[in-house]
Amino acid sequence: MSSLRLEFGAERRRYTKSRRRALAAKVDRPARPGAFLQQGGAATPKLIMSKNIFEKIIAREIPAEIVFEDETVLAFRDINPKAPAHVLIVPKKNIPRLSEAGAADEKLLGHLLLQAGAVARQLGLDKTGYRLVINNGRDGGETVAHLHCHILGGRPLAWPPG
Ligand code: AMP
Repeated sequence: MSSLRLEFGAERRRYTKSRRRALAAKVDRPARPGAFLQQGGAATPKLIMSKNIFEKIIAREIPAEIVFEDETVLAFRDINPKAPAHVLIVPKKNIPRLSEAGAADEKLLGHLLLQAGAVARQLGLDKTGYRLVINNGRDGGETVAHLHCHILGGRPLAWPPG
C-alpha cells in the first residue's frame, strides 16, 4: 500500500495506519496517483504519497521483465520465481488486496482474470496446466500490498498449498 508522510516544514512525523487513513480522507487525491501537491510555507502540511513496488514497476521507475500490458493491467515475471514459469499480473489501479476491492472494481477484476488466462496461454502453460493464486492478508502470505495474481506453471504443483 502507498504510505503517507505528513511534513510540517522541517518537521517529519510518522502516523499509525488509522491516523494515516483519517488524514488521507481529508485531502484531495491528485489526478496522478502518488503525486500529492507539495505546497510551500512552514505552516502548510505537505502530503507525499510514496509508490509501492508494483506501482514503481508500472511507472517504469524500477525494472521488471514485462510480458503483457494493456490500459488497465500489467504482467511481469516474479523476481523470486517459485516455478519455471511465475508471472504476476496486477491492476494498474492501486487496490491493496482483494478484500479491499469493491463493486466498482467488478469489470477490472474480471478483466484481470481473463488476461491472466491469456498470459498463461501466451507462456504456453495452457497445454500442461497452471495455477492462479491471490494471497490476501497476513495468513494468506501477502507480502506486497498491491493486488496481484500469481500465474504459476511449468511443473506439477502440489495441493494443498502449505
Ligand atoms: P505475495 O507474497 O503474494 O504478496 O507476492 C509478492 C510477490 O512479489 C513475491 O512472489 C515476490 O517475489 C514478488 N516481487 C517482489 N518484488 C518484486 C519485483 N521488484 N519484481 C518482481 N516481483 C517482485
